[in-house]
Amino acid sequence: ETITVQELANRMAERGGEVVKTLMKLGVMVTINQTIDADTAELVVEEFGHKLRRVSDSDVEIGMRGDPDDDSNLEPRAPVVTVMGHVDHGKTSLLDALRASDVVAQEAGGITQHIGAYQVHLASGQSITFIDTPGHAAFTEMRARGANVTDIVVLVVAADDGIMEQTVEAINHAKAAQVPIIVAINKMDKPEANPDRVKQELLSHDLVVEEMGGEIIAIPVSAKTREGLPDLEEAIQLQAEILELKANALRAAEGVVVEARLEQGRGSVATVLVQRGTLRMGDVFVTGNEWGRVRALINDRGERVEEAGPSIPVEVTGLQGTPHAGDDFVVVEDETKAREISEFRSEAKRQSDMARSGRGSLEQMLSKIKEGEIKELSVVVKSDVQGSQEAIVQALNKVGTDEARVRVLHAGVGGVNESDITLARASDAIVIAFNVRANAQARDAARRDGVDIRYYSIIYNVVDEMKAALSGLLDPEQ
Ligand code: GDP
Repeated sequence: ETITVQELANRMAERGGEVVKTLMKLGVMVTINQTIDADTAELVVEEFGHKLRRVSDSDVEIGMRGDPDDDSNLEPRAPVVTVMGHVDHGKTSLLDALRASDVVAQEAGGITQHIGAYQVHLASGQSITFIDTPGHAAFTEMRARGANVTDIVVLVVAADDGIMEQTVEAINHAKAAQVPIIVAINKMDKPEANPDRVKQELLSHDLVVEEMGGEIIAIPVSAKTREGLPDLEEAIQLQAEILELKANALRAAEGVVVEARLEQGRGSVATVLVQRGTLRMGDVFVTGNEWGRVRALINDRGERVEEAGPSIPVEVTGLQGTPHAGDDFVVVEDETKAREISEFRSEAKRQSDMARSGRGSLEQMLSKIKEGEIKELSVVVKSDVQGSQEAIVQALNKVGTDEARVRVLHAGVGGVNESDITLARASDAIVIAFNVRANAQARDAARRDGVDIRYYSIIYNVVDEMKAALSGLLDPEQ
């Protein structure tokens, strides 16, 4: 059992150089990329004053998350869908309308329970899981926490309104996450509905619909009259088949928290979307920095259930504390282990909060490029006018070589907002602010999450600095 010095430093949230120095003091001469054994690592950890038993995150990662599934146990699972789009284009209405199409709920006449995600059972016998929090803020926030729950994004565009600012944001957030997009052209019942215009506008964001020779499926729908809903569900099923979504249900459960809160009388409650395995009553688990033992499982119709398999959302009680949306959820062998891991994580988090790691800083990104860890410098561009935005994006697309290039994740006109910071954080990107400022929330978020916002007023300087950055020549003081 070995670990690299860098990895050990990361886990303790200490500087690599300090760890090397400490090792020297202990008489061990190594460089940052060399490995040391577990005993030595333990000595170092004690030297730094961290309380630690030889249990770590890696037990969860390697012991549970890491081990590959036997192919023979893989079964198809339901796709997980997030609905995104501009405000008032009908995301909530569409989610409600889709939910009402559940054949099982119709039969049972069950009461709908908003737990953060729900499943729709189709007449075909297949099902689709929808995340009940629409919009790209929640989507990207979860991604920033390391959770990739969404298999497919349904982009809602109102047929009478066309593509708006948040539609573009949603497109770019989905693209950054490399999640396939299905377009739902909503409000088709309105006399002003103009789906052709929507398709035309999609073109300028590189979303080419099938009728125009592309691969994007666009379905005209109305959340109000329910027109087109079966077609939309069919399109989701089709996309899911292409993705070949599979999971092994015959193992300890792993998943992601999609919602969590403290409730009077029930304690901490989390909605977990199981990704692999089957979650059962009595299972002991770790989630984020917390742990617990499953006391009750409640499904999206408010019914108590004994277990939940892949792609099934359930509300879990029996937590010792409240996790965050986007936290992982992993079943472990026993309480001792669960406690140790959650203690370790709490401590590591405390350390890294203190260290304010600054993961999005340009300098850090550069060292990653140099080490070959990343080959792209991802940026979010905000500017004062359309003209300068286009000029910057065009120029940046030409910067770089085969080894390293600039990738523009999102470009928009207007000040830097919180959504830009979340996107940058989730994708390890920096934010380029051209003749614009960041609003207060964005500045706070950037400071908290260590996202680098760089301000410019001359296009030449943007290009020059990104070029310099890529060739490793950037003055770190700049
Ligand atoms: P969200 O902000 O994207 O979640 O949008 P909402 O679902 O809240 O819908 C915004 C408004 O559009 C509401 O007044 C809805 O009643 C209306 N709306 C949503 N879908 C449709 C539709 O298909 N047709 C019509 N005519 N109105 C719709």
